[in-house]
Amino acid sequence: MITQNRPLSECCTFEIGGNAAYFAEPQSIDDARSCISWAHAHDLPLLFLGHGSNCLFADRGVQGVVLSTAQMRGLKLQSQDETSAIVTVNAGEPFDEFVQWAVAKGFQGVECLSGIPGSVGAAAVQNIGAYGQEIADCLRSVTLLLPNGEIEERSNIDCAFGYRQSCFKQHPGPLICALTFHLTPGGSCHLRHGELCDHIQDPRDLQAIRDAVLEIRRRKSLCTNMNDGNHRCAGSFFTNPIVSREAAERLLQMDESMPQYPTEGGVKLSAAWLIDHAGFHKGYAQGAVGLSTKHTLAIINRGGAKASDVLAFAALIQRGVKDTFGVTLIPEVNFIGFTPEERASIGL
Ligand SMILES: Cc1cc2nc3c(=O)[nH]c(=O)nc-3n(C[C@H](O)[C@H](O)[C@H](O)COP(=O)(O)OP(=O)(O)OC[C@H]3O[C@@H](n4cnc5c(N)ncnc54)[C@H](O)[C@@H]3O)c2cc1C
Repeated sequence: MITQNRPLSECCTFEIGGNAAYFAEPQSIDDARSCISWAHAHDLPLLFLGHGSNCLFADRGVQGVVLSTAQMRGLKLQSQDETSAIVTVNAGEPFDEFVQWAVAKGFQGVECLSGIPGSVGAAAVQNIGAYGQEIADCLRSVTLLLPNGEIEERSNIDCAFGYRQSCFKQHPGPLICALTFHLTPGGSCHLRHGELCDHIQDPRDLQAIRDAVLEIRRRKSLCTNMNDGNHRCAGSFFTNPIVSREAAERLLQMDESMPQYPTEGGVKLSAAWLIDHAGFHKGYAQGAVGLSTKHTLAIINRGGAKASDVLAFAALIQRGVKDTFGVTLIPEVNFIGFTPEERASIGL
């Protein structure tokens, strides 16, 4: 179950990174518990990995155990009546296969999240979201394997979900083994995103919503497609910054066309717009690293890039936005295996 010297470039969508000293692929919670005990017994650091679509691994690799949930598969419909469907999905299931299943069943709740790469387990780590939905909206509870080997069922409210945030991102430690969702049979989707509102006639037509989302994502190279030159990336590299109302006013005076969205705790800005208006346009590149030709928020490995190249490029973009607008972009991507100095160079 545990192998040695696994190239991490094979395990992430950036296709970058050195080796994992040890790589474990448990198939069940019991297997995972054994791997975790083994790491503890050998005093090795432990890292959890889903499908690697939101990670940048350092060129030096990881000197510990990387535990992949990819083989922890399975989905179970626990109960269903006219108003609710309760479904438990194991961590390793591809998130989009779960969305496809829910849409085919007519269970409303996750249709706007169509096409997001990655595993179900990791979806809770950053409370994935897109086109007006996030998983916190329909997540009932999370099944955790704690470092001491015990199982805990944690309710939605105790996961401290926020915009691309959760207690799992703030305090990594437990392995997320499964998510339990509360979906609505025959439900109507509350369409919030402009492009979807324009295209969808019937908010109960979940398949039409899924098709429209996939079409928008394909146009922005935000679906997994190995034939697309923009595919070696981790989606949005930075989160959309949230600034105070005063800072937002000041920014509007600099450029009245700046998109701004009032939100909890301030005003959300568009990181893509800020990057573009700081002078880094779609396709801007330096050697093997560049911005997607379809979306300024995705940093891509154009082929043969090192993690150090991506780090330097991201820091350049971050500095450009800070110098132009005084706004600090915070990485959404997880940096793994980097030194404190390297992390500090990108403000982590
Ligand atoms: C083309 C593209 C488009 C994207 N679009 C979106 C989008 O629209 N919205 C969005 O929110 N995200 C988006 N993403 C980011 C990414 O798909 C999500 O963050 C996804 O949830 C990551 O899943 P993963 O399994 O690949 O996680 P990984 O990259 O494997 O891991 C991410 C983090 O979670 C931790 N982790 C993983 N599994 C577990 C577990 N079982 N228990 C505890 N910790 C764990 C890891 O240690 C790591 O810190 C996109 C990425 C790509 C490449």
